Amino acid sequence: MFFSTLILQAGGSTDGSESFFDSPAWKFASLMTRAVLVGLWLALVFWTYKDARRRLEDRLMIGVAVATSLIFPYVGTLFYVILRPPEYLEDVLERELEIKARELEIVGGADHCPACRKPVMADYLICPHCRRRLKTACRNCSRPLDPSWKVCPYCASEVKVTPAKALVAEDELFA
Ligand SMILES: [Zn+2]
Ligand SMILES: [Zn+2]
Repeated sequence: MFFSTLILQAGGSTDGSESFFDSPAWKFASLMTRAVLVGLWLALVFWTYKDARRRLEDRLMIGVAVATSLIFPYVGTLFYVILRPPEYLEDVLERELEIKARELEIVGGADHCPACRKPVMADYLICPHCRRRLKTACRNCSRPLDPSWKVCPYCASEVKVTPAKALVAEDELFA
């Protein structure tokens, strides 16, 4: 009799542990865990979409990245992170523009002759292709001066304007 009650109690206790998995607390905990896992998975899919759009130009590749992240939860996103391009598109564009700007700098103010359109350097006095006069030499230091300059930027001496030219300019002003 005593043993049977013990067995019953023991049985009761096993029933109790089984009922723990049916308990609202356990159900709630397991539901919350699943919700968090699903939420994290969807967040990773969304993150993949956002990140892929900044790194990939091809819409098909963006689709493949998002689909991989969606079909293979967590692992797909990990694969994307490993295989994605290392740079953002805007950084690539900025770098290309910088290189282009530097190339222009290296060419060093290279210009085109207004007469024959052939490339000439900024300090040429005369076009070597068509003999057109491009700049006038400073009377003091002989450096090339732009016709629109009023003073030599190299030696600070006034650029002499012939009286005839000055009169024409004045007439144009008053016209
Ligand atoms: Zn020329
Ligand atoms: Zn000068």
